Amino acid sequence: MSDPKPFRYEAEVPPGQKRHLRYEISETYLGDPVEIPVTVINGEHGGPTVFMTAALHGDELNGVKVLQEVAARYDPTRIHGTVVCIHVANVPGYLAQQRYIPIYDLDLNRSFPGRNSSNTAERMANQIYERFIRPCDIGLDFHTSTRNRTTMYHVRADMSRPDVARLARSYGSNLILSGEADAGSLRTVATNDGTPTITVEMGRAHRFQLPLIERAMEGVDSVLAEYGLLPNRPVAWPGWTRIVENASDKAWIRADTGGLVEMQYDGVPLVYEGDTICTISNHFKTREKRVAAPFTGLIIGVLQNPVAAPGHPLCHLVSVDEKTLREIEREIEAGEFSERPWS
Ligand SMILES: [Zn+2]
Repeated sequence: MSDPKPFRYEAEVPPGQKRHLRYEISETYLGDPVEIPVTVINGEHGGPTVFMTAALHGDELNGVKVLQEVAARYDPTRIHGTVVCIHVANVPGYLAQQRYIPIYDLDLNRSFPGRNSSNTAERMANQIYERFIRPCDIGLDFHTSTRNRTTMYHVRADMSRPDVARLARSYGSNLILSGEADAGSLRTVATNDGTPTITVEMGRAHRFQLPLIERAMEGVDSVLAEYGLLPNRPVAWPGWTRIVENASDKAWIRADTGGLVEMQYDGVPLVYEGDTICTISNHFKTREKRVAAPFTGLIIGVLQNPVAAPGHPLCHLVSVDEKTLREIEREIEAGEFSERPWS
């Protein structure tokens, strides 16, 4: 066990203290500061430093609620190590309730590690990265689907890296999509820089979805247990885990005709090869095209826009192996299966 040490940003939060602070990362047109809300919980006992970020995309709110709860829940007298919560990373996008930084539509999550001589997004990213991300040992970055879509609760992580795989598994999600993230994303940059980081994808933009938020709280608990920040807490392992590593195990199903989309699968997002996923009909209801599942799998993302043109994505399907399929079927049978990507 290591000795407790202060968490330094410019000021410092000594061991045994929780501090809610605002940190300036930019300025508005009026010259007012743009400040991110941050909570630092520095435990009385030494241990790893964990960052958690939400709203890098300004309209993705589930993670904001998760971090509000995390910041309120953990007490520095019980934590072995340090938890750093960046409640809202993309403040201009959050204020405008949109994904990107307004006016020039810059993506903060493609701007890391950023530079102080570059555009607004890179300057903001640089402030966040240097002050709050670089000092950390591991990280969790909370996202949702982009608007007009919803996604099954899952983790994205580069499972080829053992340090990242440990983090992803201990978070305890059923579904893990493995692979490197896009260049300039917080996950990729932090991971390559020695801070293993995973992305948590949960539900829809513009909403608080309480069942997902509760699961994320359990995931945070489990990670803190695995890394010794909560030494007496058990790590939570899920009943089944599907790790999707190959591109051939996932597919965006796209429309081949234009028209009105009606989803057909029944309640549970499990479809068997050849099942009808949805139909696309014309406005006169004289023509109806059936969209069939190309393989047996889970529908993990759904477009919520009910009109489609040829080429529009309809849903995201991942295959499941025999063993996982049996476990999912057992859970469905027992009424335990709770994945509802569209709710
Ligand atoms: Zn996002």
